[in-house]
Amino acid sequence: MSQRPRVVILGAGFGGVNAAKVLGGCAADVVLVDKTNHHLFQPLLYQVATAALAPSDIATATRVVLRHCKNVTVLMGEAVGIDPDAREVRLEDGARLRYDYLVVAIGSAYSFFGHDDWARHVHVLKTLDDALKIRSALLAAFELAERCEDKAEIAPLMTFVVVGGGPTGVELAGTIAELSRTTLARDFRTIEPRSAHIVLCEAGPRILPSFPPAQSDYALRALQNLGVDVRVGAKVGAIDAGSIQIGAERLQSSVVVWCAGTAAHPASKWLGATAASNGAVRVGPDCALPGRPEIFVIGDVASFDGADGRPLPGLAPVAKQQGLFVGRLLRARIDGRPGPKRFRYRDYGMMAIIGRSRAVAQLFGLRMSGFVAWLAWSLIHLMLLVDFRSRLTVYVNWSWAWFTYGRGARLLTHAPRWIARARGKARRDAA
Ligand SMILES: Cc1cc2nc3c(=O)[nH]c(=O)nc-3n(C[C@H](O)[C@H](O)[C@H](O)COP(=O)(O)OP(=O)(O)OC[C@H]3O[C@@H](n4cnc5c(N)ncnc54)[C@H](O)[C@@H]3O)c2cc1C
Repeated sequence: MSQRPRVVILGAGFGGVNAAKVLGGCAADVVLVDKTNHHLFQPLLYQVATAALAPSDIATATRVVLRHCKNVTVLMGEAVGIDPDAREVRLEDGARLRYDYLVVAIGSAYSFFGHDDWARHVHVLKTLDDALKIRSALLAAFELAERCEDKAEIAPLMTFVVVGGGPTGVELAGTIAELSRTTLARDFRTIEPRSAHIVLCEAGPRILPSFPPAQSDYALRALQNLGVDVRVGAKVGAIDAGSIQIGAERLQSSVVVWCAGTAAHPASKWLGATAASNGAVRVGPDCALPGRPEIFVIGDVASFDGADGRPLPGLAPVAKQQGLFVGRLLRARIDGRPGPKRFRYRDYGMMAIIGRSRAVAQLFGLRMSGFVAWLAWSLIHLMLLVDFRSRLTVYVNWSWAWFTYGRGARLLTHAPRWIARARGKARRDAA
């Protein structure tokens, strides 16, 4: 029987994949488990949702990413529980995975601030499936509007609401505006896609609250130039099928995308661990669970206090650096060497893009807005993509879109159910 220690990593996101890469070739058997078969570059999901990129441009099979790590086995399966005393992970199909060391890196999910019933009526943007559903809903709304005989039905169909003025909401609202104002504007005969009403609502006093006020103002003006109706201090009161209450106004809308709060997965319950207010597992300075030195929790599912005493933000570089750190720590432990003791986050900055040529960025202490920031955003995101093939296809697609305003990933293979239902109703009403 093998005496090699067994490391189980849950989640093939930024944290899990980077931990696995560092452990490649070490004297341990590593098992990486994910409920999907791919590693996803979430920061570009909004471009799949708005038909600029195809799913395969921003996701790569995890087996391919870790092909050269011969001691790493990739398994597809969903974890549903952990038994820390028995040192086992339970999978959805009843299988159990034994571990000597466990790395939990399963990311986060959206939270609806206690209104879980809203989840049925909104789209979220976290997985490839989510992005494809948004893309279908947006494109189908224009298709249905083109066929509307009752002109009063067109405006609600072409009203799209994005909830949450953080980077994801800003990027998505700006790109939906460009999709309607440029790409689709030339292709319809009955409707005027430029007249689509895109609303971005943010409960706080300004969009991009994590950026300095001057950059929030820049982003606000850039979105307004694109024709986005930005509403700040606008709380969502209720959401149902086809409408949303924003402040005192009830707005008819065919697509609502929720980009507001996130909450960690239920890992804290599985581990019986202390959780932060967003459900993330509180970990010690080495990313390990207090009292369980063999269990590490990293990335969005972890709550790690940064140098200023506040939890680190849910960002890709945090997850990536923690994955690398835990990989090195485990590798040293397995080799019987002293390893790093304390994780330190290197904050290189943050960025948000607004449409095809504008962005705001804070990089290495430098503040940038406009085209230069957009250029920096584009280069950095290209470099961060996981493999050369993705970099090349994304570069070609972006260049094509930049010069032609074209978007290649606009195909609908079937009408989503709600569009079919609406057509049926229209026909019945007419009969
Ligand atoms: C739309 C969007 C845009 C973003 N934009 C940016 C950005 O511009 N810049 C930035 O720095 N950050 C951005 N982020 C945040 C960033 O993507 C996350 O902080 C980062 O992905 C966290 O990495 P992670 O490894 O913790 O989790 P993830 O990357 O989310 O990976 C978690 C993995 O775990 C898997 N998983 C989940 N549950 C289970 C289970 N029960 N069993 C097995 N597998 C499971 C998932 O399939 C997934 O592969 C964005 C996030 C989103 C959603």
